[in-house]
Amino acid sequence: MKRAKRFLQILMLTLFIISSAPQITLANTTEEMSQEEIFNARMELYQKMEAITQVPWHYLAAVDTYERGLRRAQRDRPREEGFISIFYDPEIWAGPINPNKEDTDPLSISLFNGIGLDGNGDGVASPTDDEDVLYTFAHYLEQYGFDEDDFRIALWDYYQREQSVSIIHGHAAVYEHFGTLDLDDHAFPIPLNYNYSYKNTWGDRRGWGGRRIHEGTDIFAGYNVPVRATAYGKVEVKGWNMYGGWRIGIRDLDNVYHYYAHLSGFEKGIEEGSIVSPGDVVGYCGSSGYGKPGTQGKFPPHLHYGMYRDNGFTEWSFDPFPSLKQWERKAYQDRKKKK
Ligand SMILES: [Zn+2]
Repeated sequence: MKRAKRFLQILMLTLFIISSAPQITLANTTEEMSQEEIFNARMELYQKMEAITQVPWHYLAAVDTYERGLRRAQRDRPREEGFISIFYDPEIWAGPINPNKEDTDPLSISLFNGIGLDGNGDGVASPTDDEDVLYTFAHYLEQYGFDEDDFRIALWDYYQREQSVSIIHGHAAVYEHFGTLDLDDHAFPIPLNYNYSYKNTWGDRRGWGGRRIHEGTDIFAGYNVPVRATAYGKVEVKGWNMYGGWRIGIRDLDNVYHYYAHLSGFEKGIEEGSIVSPGDVVGYCGSSGYGKPGTQGKFPPHLHYGMYRDNGFTEWSFDPFPSLKQWERKAYQDRKKKK
C-alpha cells in the first residue's frame, strides 16, 4: 500500500515536470496565433489573389470557409497545414495519369493535365502551399467571369451539388455584407430577461407525432417572446412547414443550418436571403405547426431549435444542447460585466 502511494507520488511529480517543461515540439505556426492574427493572414491572402486574378475576395473566402467546414466534418480529409482550407485530391492536383502523385513541378503537372498551379512564382506548385492552392482555385473561377451568375456556374461545375453552391453563395453574401472574416460570435436565442426553460431533449421520441427522433432542443417560453439569430449567417428558408409550423432556417459560416420552429410570426424585414448577426430578432415564440398553414395551439408554446451540419454529401442533425448552454453562459457573463 505504502509502495503504491510512493509510486503515485513519483508519477505525479514526473508528470508535473514534463508538463511544466518548455515545449520541445515545434508547434504549427497557426496554433500559436490569435484568432485575429489568423483572420488577418487569411484576408491578406484573399486580397492578394483578388489583385492578381480580379476574383472578389469574398468569393475566395466563401469557398475556403465552406471547405474548412468539410475538413471538420469529413474524417478522411486531412487538417489544413496553413491558413487556406481548400482541398485538392493529389490525383487531381498532379494529374490522373501522372506517375508521381506528389508532383509539384508546374510543368510536368500541366503535361499530365493536373490542375495544380504555382501561385507565388517559387517554381513549385504544392497542394499544401496556401498561395498555390488559392491561386489554383482563383484561376479556375476567373475563367468563368466575375459576376454572381458566373460564380454560381463555376461552383456548380466544380461541386455538382446544388446544396454546396447555395451554401457557398450564402457565405459570399455574408462576407461581402460585413467586409470582415471576424464573424465567430454567437448568441443565445432567447433574451435573458424573459422567462424560459429547457433541458436536453435531443434524441427523445417526438412528443407530438412523427416517426423520427427529436432533432433539437425545445426551449419553453411564452407567446411572442423574441427569438434571435444565434450566429452570423443568411436566411435560407422562411415560411410554413407541416410539422415545424412557421419556421426559419439560417445558415452560418460553419456550414451549420440553424432551424427555428413553431414561431407565432416573423420579425419585419426578415426574408429569405436576409443577412443576420447573432442577437438579431428573427421571429417570435409560438405553438404553430402540426397541420395546415396557420394551425397553432396543439402544444404549449416553445421554440424548437435544431442544428444540422453539411458535410458536402448530406446534412445531419446534431445535438444543439451543448452549444445552447455555452451561449447562455456567455450571455450571463456579458450581462454581469455590464453591471
Ligand atoms: Zn422540438
